[in-house]
Amino acid sequence: IRRKRCDVKIAVVGAPGVGKSALTVRFLTKRYIGEYDHNTENKYKHESLLDGEPVHFEILDTCPKDEHELPNANELLQWADGILLVYSITDRQSFNYIRKARTDLTTETPVFLVANKVDMVHLRQVSTDEGEILAKDLECRFTEVSAAEHVIQVAEIFYDLCKEILASKRK
Ligand code: GDP
Ligand code: MG
Repeated sequence: IRRKRCDVKIAVVGAPGVGKSALTVRFLTKRYIGEYDHNTENKYKHESLLDGEPVHFEILDTCPKDEHELPNANELLQWADGILLVYSITDRQSFNYIRKARTDLTTETPVFLVANKVDMVHLRQVSTDEGEILAKDLECRFTEVSAAEHVIQVAEIFYDLCKEILASKRK
């Protein structure tokens, strides 16, 4: 039986330095690699099996030049099927960045809120509760993760968002 290939486009959004590229590269390669391009926007293609079904991922690793440059919501929503909103638990500003960015991104598009760098608990500035409250507000899923230490959990974020996207496409 020839199955229809599923295409899924995910944009990774967040302030500079929160680990958008680290999470993306972790998902793509299963590795935590220092030597990737930090300072440009990159689009990756990736084939994967999800519940035995082939999925063709396109991942846009966005790259705002500073914490004042919010994502272009129109452009993003036109392209993306789903959005990963990423902040760092060690960076209060990056949490505020998501709160500002999401005003424009309030949408039907599936969203997943990710709090990265949980390995750096000693530098925590944003509590788990605050993340959960924001996720409730956004009506989206939430998880705390470490691109540096977690392999399976990072992949699960992308797969869970993908499942939500496919479910919403089938509606
Ligand atoms: P981006 O600007 O959002 O793409 O952030 P990067 O992926 O370039 O990461 C910024 C810095 O944070 C780099 O030095 C990464 O090595 C580091 N980093 C990313 N994720 C983690 C993490 O989960 N834990 C720790 N400790 N450092 C991380
Ligand atoms: Mg980057």
